Amino acid sequence: TDPALIRNFCIIAHIDHGKSTLADRMLQLSGIVEDRQMRAQYLDRMDIERERGITIKSQAVRLPFTALDDTTYVLNLIDTPGHVDFTYEVSRSLAACEGAILLVDAAQGIEAQTLANLYLALEHDLQIIPVLNKIDLPAAMPDKYAAELAGIIGCEPTDVLRVSAKTGMGVEELLNEIVRQVPPPVGEADSPPRAMIFDSIYDTYRGVVTYVRVVDGHLGTRQRIEMMSTGATHEMLEVGVISPEPRKVDGLGVGEVGYIITGVKDVRQSRVGDTITAASGGASEMLPGYQDPKPMVFSGLYPLDGSDYPVLRDALEKLQLNDAALTFEPETSAALGFGFRCGFLGLLHLEITRARLEREFNLELISTAPNVVYRVVMEDHTEHWVTNPSEFPEGKIAEVHEPIVKGTLLAPSEFVGPIMELCQARRGSLDGMDYLSEDRVEMRYTLPLAEIVFDFFDQLKSRTKGFASLDYEPSGDQVADLVKVDILLQGEMVDAFSAVVHRDKAYAYGVEMTKKLRELIPRQQFEVPVQAAVGSRVIARENIRAIRKDVLSKCYGGDISRKRKLLEKQKEGKRKMKMVGRVEVPQEAFISALSTE
Ligand code: GDP
Ligand code: MG
Repeated sequence: TDPALIRNFCIIAHIDHGKSTLADRMLQLSGIVEDRQMRAQYLDRMDIERERGITIKSQAVRLPFTALDDTTYVLNLIDTPGHVDFTYEVSRSLAACEGAILLVDAAQGIEAQTLANLYLALEHDLQIIPVLNKIDLPAAMPDKYAAELAGIIGCEPTDVLRVSAKTGMGVEELLNEIVRQVPPPVGEADSPPRAMIFDSIYDTYRGVVTYVRVVDGHLGTRQRIEMMSTGATHEMLEVGVISPEPRKVDGLGVGEVGYIITGVKDVRQSRVGDTITAASGGASEMLPGYQDPKPMVFSGLYPLDGSDYPVLRDALEKLQLNDAALTFEPETSAALGFGFRCGFLGLLHLEITRARLEREFNLELISTAPNVVYRVVMEDHTEHWVTNPSEFPEGKIAEVHEPIVKGTLLAPSEFVGPIMELCQARRGSLDGMDYLSEDRVEMRYTLPLAEIVFDFFDQLKSRTKGFASLDYEPSGDQVADLVKVDILLQGEMVDAFSAVVHRDKAYAYGVEMTKKLRELIPRQQFEVPVQAAVGSRVIARENIRAIRKDVLSKCYGGDISRKRKLLEKQKEGKRKMKMVGRVEVPQEAFISALSTE
């Protein structure tokens, strides 16, 4: 295709603002999906996406569209994942486009994630087309939000388009504006090929399907290709476009978007952001922006039933075929048995992975409280990367570094006070604050990631009646006064409860955990002290009182068979018990203590 006739664009929208529905209308208008084949959210293929209403993996679909000038253009709609955990994937999808539709619910206004993605799009120099959706809703306030959008991107309120993705109103006009406003791609047609990978999906039948945007040159079917980040070469088995089902083509030229299949079996061999070139006579310079996927949040995953351990391992291996950012390694916990320490991009990534393990592989899991990665520098200058709090080093520590993020919060201005309080309590520092309109504020904070992975979203929502939204991106690390708090039962450390916390919060954590465990762990035959300690210093203590005397005294020492029955009953109960030293702890106690309510 002549690059002059190509328009590559994406849709930036908050969850539920109507991105999938708008894509559906575009598919219908382009004529590639007949009305009777239409199903809601056509492009959201993964079941879990459909259920949760979010888009995890981006897709690219090619839409022919005959514009007002009677010319037929090729519009490539590149779907971006909407959630903060996937910022890097979002940024790669944006890099594949020249334009972006900024889609905002006309009854809600813009949200923090959308704003953050808009800033990303502006950094990539994309042409922005502001659009208000759901104008059919009685609660829509298009004038108010058109003014707000105009203020944010610096256009006239009348430049903000108004559509209803549900009824289709205004969607054809929007497609014409895409043709008119989004610049066609430019690239060197005669140079060696360079194509950027913006998505990579494992398919059981075909292996890895890699989505690419060709920048320079031409990628043909019978070519050997090289992944420039690793130098690995592969045979190209198939080149195609999605319209809306996969369709083979002979090759892809400058500005074109499509997929390739090379027969590799694991998405880590075909990484988002990498540059593909020809194996011989290829380009010498990669396209900019490649990053290794880097897990930011860690959690231990353990099967509830110890015999499921091999199933869990197989399941994690299968998920990894499709998820370059997921990491795992075996780990043993005295409290929880055999499991894996897993690394995730963020909390949503963790939640989705866990849900898939439980649903697709029928596993019941316990997960430990999520934590971030700490870099611990010792006085002798050795360094430790700590992904499990119980492995926090002992001894002479010089410095502890923790990851920090830049957060963007959006909220109605009446909530500025509560948000500031929350961010301060979470060791945040305010970088700036702007009014988007008279009653909506954007606040920018630098925060430790560890403070966000721990119930920050819930707190934010409850303090702002659900009106505030947050987005964040990694921003290096900082030195902080962090200590490890251990929880001990009768002097034995319970590894699953060790936590790395700020020194000022160690006491509160210790008190909370010892209280919780005292309530959850049944009485034993002897008194059990529950302690929280920093190093060898005990900072909190509770006692679980002894019980056995009481139980057996009910038998008056006489009725032997009743006594035996009671003892047997106790034994039965023991099966679901984990031993910590001499203390029996029911598995439920660990589960409830680990859940963050
Ligand atoms: P996404 O999360 O951005 O992909 O949003 P969806 O396309 O899944 O839409 C979220 C919800 O809003 C769904 O229930 C849609 O039916 C509804 N919706 C989307 N567009 C419109 C619209 O223009 N008008 C109305 N009334 N509802 C809409
Ligand atoms: Mg969607």
